This record gives sequence, C-alpha cells and structure tokens, in this order.
Amino acid sequence: MQTRIRGIGMTSQRTRDRLVCRLRDRGIADERVLEVMRRTPRHLFVDEALASRAYEDTALPIGFGQTLSQPYIVARMTEILCQARPRRVLEVGTGSGYQAAILAQLVERVYSVERIDALVRQARRRLRDLGLANVQLRHSDGSWGWESQAPFDAILVTAAPDWLPTPLLQQLAEGGRLLLPLGERGRQTLVLIRRQGGEFERTDLEAVSFVPLVGSPDGVV
Ligand code: SAH
Repeated sequence: MQTRIRGIGMTSQRTRDRLVCRLRDRGIADERVLEVMRRTPRHLFVDEALASRAYEDTALPIGFGQTLSQPYIVARMTEILCQARPRRVLEVGTGSGYQAAILAQLVERVYSVERIDALVRQARRRLRDLGLANVQLRHSDGSWGWESQAPFDAILVTAAPDWLPTPLLQQLAEGGRLLLPLGERGRQTLVLIRRQGGEFERTDLEAVSFVPLVGSPDGVV
C-alpha cells in the first residue's frame, strides 16, 4: 500500500534524487523504498539550521542528545523489514518522526513509541502536516512494546538495547520480523529475528551505531 504525502513542492528535489542515487550505489535495491526516500522531505525533520545537510548521507542531531539515523541505515532497515510485506508495524524510538514517515508510506499502519515527550509532540505535528494519518504515536518506554496494539507484523527498534527485550518478541505476529541494533555503544550489531512456528530465528547482520535504548531490562533472552 502506498500513501502519498501532501504539501511538498520541489524543494530540494534534486538533492533528494542525488541521495537516492547514492543509496542505490550502496546496495539499496527495493524500488519502493527508494521512491519513498526520494519523495520524503527529510529537511522538515531536523532543525532549520541543519536543513541544508538533510540530504547528505549522515546522521543528524535532533536535540536531547538523540540523532536521526543516516539515510542509508533508514533505507536498509526499511528494506529488510518490508521484504515480508508487513501491514502493521511498531517502531521503538520515534525521534524526529522521519523513519515513521517513511514506513507510513509503505505499510498500512505504523505505531511508534518515544520516551521523550517533546519529541513525540514535534513528530506528531510533522506527520500531521505531511498528511500521514496512518501513524499513531505514544509517549512511553518502548522496551515494553505496545501491548494493546499487538501483535505486529514487524517491529523496528531505532535505539540500541544491550539486552533482547522479551515483550517485543512476545508482541511479534507469527511470521513477523523484529529488527534491532543490539549491544553496547561502539559494539552494536543489527539483528533480525524472525518468528516461525513459535520459534525465534536470529540472524546477525552488519555492525551499526545507534544511541542507546533507555529502559529497564526485563530479563535477558
Ligand atoms: N527513528 C528516529 C531516530 C531515533 S533516535 C528518527 O527517525 O528520527 C532514538 C530514539 O529512541 C530517541 O529519540 C530516544 O529518545 C528514543 N528512545 C530511547 N530509549 C527509548 C525507550 N526505552 N522507549 C522509547 N524510545 C526510546
């Protein structure tokens, strides 16, 4: 399913096209993901002072010591997650709302939780301004997931825990995928977990660098 976003003119379209070429060069192959990256105004998700850098392939600060991931990582995680064509997706760590905006144009419904209330409010406003009405945000500790909306076809964690949060595994639908950066700062790995027939199958992907997930470990799996 594709949702079109409203209200963006041609601002930075050329620089966005250039970014998409770069993502393709780096190995992003899913045309749906590339198209959504091409049309989403990343500059509206950062402070105005950083807007001119929004289409460089780098992470950018979003205040409160947090960062918006580099476009390559956003594209890569979205591509892995969307391979199984999920309908309902949970994101842990809304941050600026950019990743949620990308997902919202590829899946039916996005749920996203964030522990910093000011970021939730800001992201909510941005998503509303873009006309992305299929995203629901909540101010809460995402290491507990979002029980009342579970199960999810896919769960994406955009801050790194150094434990595997059990509630996220439990809230995964049969056949669902959980994608998260796992490990201490400086030593994190992108991990994909697939729920198959009641079992969890883990695949370790590449090394990544995320801000830590702040939360209470509920037990290590
Ligand atoms: N996906 C975001 C970037 C996230 S940065 C974007 O597109 O901009 C990681 C975010 O995770 C930060 O905003 C941080 O506050 C949040 N976070 C950290 N621990 C969390 C927790 N336990 N629950 C919810 N959000 C958390």
